[in-house]
Amino acid sequence: MTIFWPSNTAYITDEIRNAIGRDITILVTVSGIACAACSLNPVSNLSTNPFCPVCGGTYWTSTTSDYVVNAHVTIGEIDLPWRIAGGYIERGEAVVQIKYTPDNLYAVEHAAHYIVDGKTYLQDDISYRGVPDINRMVITLKEQEG
Ligand SMILES: [Zn+2]
Repeated sequence: MTIFWPSNTAYITDEIRNAIGRDITILVTVSGIACAACSLNPVSNLSTNPFCPVCGGTYWTSTTSDYVVNAHVTIGEIDLPWRIAGGYIERGEAVVQIKYTPDNLYAVEHAAHYIVDGKTYLQDDISYRGVPDINRMVITLKEQEG
């Protein structure tokens, strides 16, 4: 028996995600921001003030920027592992599936953490899926304590 993959699988996956997905927020790390409280020593590439209270003397700081993306979200429930395609998810875990685009890939690769349904999660694992070409990313998240 020969299995044919329709050429529009990515389109179908997108349609499903748009229908049942919801927005999540990825906090993306943005680095290389100039400190507003001191000035740069161009020779050392450090602050002219080694005791700057804002940057601590490094001059270059980083922050996070909100990136909102539509995702298909699966949240772990109660104490029971919940079987999903490809494995089980435990309480305090979430699995999000998002479209594979350059912007989404950048956000995932520079993610500090994720906000899903008001809870904060840390990135645990990323897998890239799609036949024949990668068209989506499935990211396993662990709920951040506290
Ligand atoms: Zn500074």
